Amino acid sequence: MLRNIDADIAILIKREIQRQRETINLIASENYVSKSVLTVVGSILTNKYAEGFPGKRYYDGCENVDKIESIAIERLKKLFNAEHANVQPHAGSQANMAVYLATLKPGDVILGMDLAAGGHLTHGTKVNFSGMIFRPFYYGVDRETEQLNYDEILKIAENVKPKLIICGASAYPRTIDFKKFSEIAKSVGAYLCADIAHIAGIIAAGLHPSPVDYAEFVTGTTHKTLRGPRGGFILCKKAFAQMIDKTVFPGIQGGPLVHVIAGKAVAFKEAMNRKFHVYQKQVLENCSLMARGLIERNFRLVTGGTDNHLILIDLRNKKITGEAAQRALGAAGITVNRNAIPYDPLPPNIASGIRIGTAAITTRGMKKNDIEKIIEFIDEALHYADDFDQLAVVRKQVKKFASQFPIYPE
Ligand code: PLP
Repeated sequence: MLRNIDADIAILIKREIQRQRETINLIASENYVSKSVLTVVGSILTNKYAEGFPGKRYYDGCENVDKIESIAIERLKKLFNAEHANVQPHAGSQANMAVYLATLKPGDVILGMDLAAGGHLTHGTKVNFSGMIFRPFYYGVDRETEQLNYDEILKIAENVKPKLIICGASAYPRTIDFKKFSEIAKSVGAYLCADIAHIAGIIAAGLHPSPVDYAEFVTGTTHKTLRGPRGGFILCKKAFAQMIDKTVFPGIQGGPLVHVIAGKAVAFKEAMNRKFHVYQKQVLENCSLMARGLIERNFRLVTGGTDNHLILIDLRNKKITGEAAQRALGAAGITVNRNAIPYDPLPPNIASGIRIGTAAITTRGMKKNDIEKIIEFIDEALHYADDFDQLAVVRKQVKKFASQFPIYPE
């Protein structure tokens, strides 16, 4: 028993289970994996070293993990209709790193979405490897519409002549036009990498256009809308298969996490099921209900709404910062993250907005009436942001509400 060997960790896991059960998780990048995925990731597969790829390992005893990784690869290819898949990246950041190092030389120009406009650290931020090794330029969103302006992106691309364009985002609530991105990339002779970390599950369910036919490289994470274990993946055309595989191993990683790869395989199988399609439809439906309900309560949403699983709220009219809102909601048992809004006047550690997503609450089974209740909780918590007694009252109600949606019931 873990409790007898390491009481510190055992207690903290117990508290984390309780926290997950008693709070409402609106973090757009999180989800709850199935019990099957959980079991597989905690299995004895963690004991195995398997440097290399199926059939070409540097260690003996890989007959079972070879089969597991091959199954994961084939399922992922099928799920996204891709020519080649690599399931080894330890995370989304490693997937992006592998694509950049496979296609670029240090100092080459890359063009990605500005972190401040909704991009990810790995899309060229100065404090990240992507901005340290390469020469990053950025596109943002239109000041008026707060959406991607493809004419503007083309102009920037023509100006800076990137070798690689990265599209995809961490905080963009609208559909991304991958075809347009591919036309821009082609017109300036750049590779296109579509980072679908956030929307992979929605794409897998056929509810957002897929970049697979348009981008030479597609990267993603398995743990957000795709609802698998924490990890990354890369899809590419056959012509790039060898150079991508070589860059993942031995280029940037050693032994793959075969227990996680097995968990990915299970999640890919789950994603092929019709139930997953129903789930993703509900994620989108819940998000659109949430958007409508928030607007009715005078919340301003960046871009005026959402097409996907996430919403960015501009809190300036509510006279509260993103940081203070995150704190108040946290005290009320609602987990969100503060987020910069486009052209944010505040620094990112304070931020004028919060980002919320519906992937996790939908996995717990929440629907229309529950969304209305959550909006009420949010409104109340933000109204009483400085009143800890009132926040404690909301927290009690949230606990009672959330406990109706058990995760991993015993
Ligand atoms: N790309 C995008 C668009 C993301 O949103 C994220 C994570 O939030 C990543 C990449 C990186 O994923 P990881 O945290 O697994 O490195």
